[in-house]
Amino acid sequence: MARPYLFGTNFKMNQTPAESAAFYQQLVASVQIPPDTHLFVIPPFTSLSAVKDVAGQPPHRVWVGAQNVHWAPDGAYTGEISAGMLIALDVDLVLLGHAERRRYFHETDVDLNRKVLAALGAGLRVLLAVGETAEERSFGVGGETVLRQLRIGLHDVQTEHLGQIQIAYEPVWSIGAGGTPASPEDVVPIAKQIRSGCEELFPGYGAEVPILYGGSVDPSNAGTFTAFQDIDGLFVGRAAWTVEGFIATFQAGYQGHVTGDG
Ligand code: PEP
Repeated sequence: MARPYLFGTNFKMNQTPAESAAFYQQLVASVQIPPDTHLFVIPPFTSLSAVKDVAGQPPHRVWVGAQNVHWAPDGAYTGEISAGMLIALDVDLVLLGHAERRRYFHETDVDLNRKVLAALGAGLRVLLAVGETAEERSFGVGGETVLRQLRIGLHDVQTEHLGQIQIAYEPVWSIGAGGTPASPEDVVPIAKQIRSGCEELFPGYGAEVPILYGGSVDPSNAGTFTAFQDIDGLFVGRAAWTVEGFIATFQAGYQGHVTGDG
């Protein structure tokens, strides 16, 4: 089946509400979105209300994402945000399992599974990030790490929720300012393992799950990843933090997608 093409960015702990709203508004006004393509922007929680004000009623032309969600619907979890709270702000998607959440906030695969199930049950799309560290890669267990994250993260997900799931493969060694850019030779074999993992989890439906690549992507290399069949889009940090950079990186990746075998 034809999977949609996806492209988006995560602002991490950057931007005021006014800055996020201005970015979103300018992006929506200037970007051309081809058919079967979805764009998304994931600002900090504090920006979601301001972005909602400029995004209007769903369906949104550019999906609005949140950077985390708690698994409980409510309760004594100071500092946390529930799926219902995100739905009340018309959020379309939640990012779960980013390497920074795993590393600095000690989120485990089991925690993430609870969050995935809560988010899907509430009707949110989930972008589940998976990726191995440099150390795991050096021991030759990158693929095992990613498959473990996938199998636990998506444990007990029902096939009926499959349309809400997308996976971001983000090798930890390639993301952020200290990251080393990966090559398609690094990325494609792991993307294929993720595809097989999805098929193992959802027999007969694994081909439906979009797989995005993220890590030091910019306009110069975006198309080299998306040319491959198992890579259905890009999840970009720094290069997409200006509207011009977002659009240039999106267009370069999309070009690779339409001209490659993907
Ligand atoms: C990230 O941190 O998820 C990421 C993809 O960052 P960058 O594109 O800046 O490497």
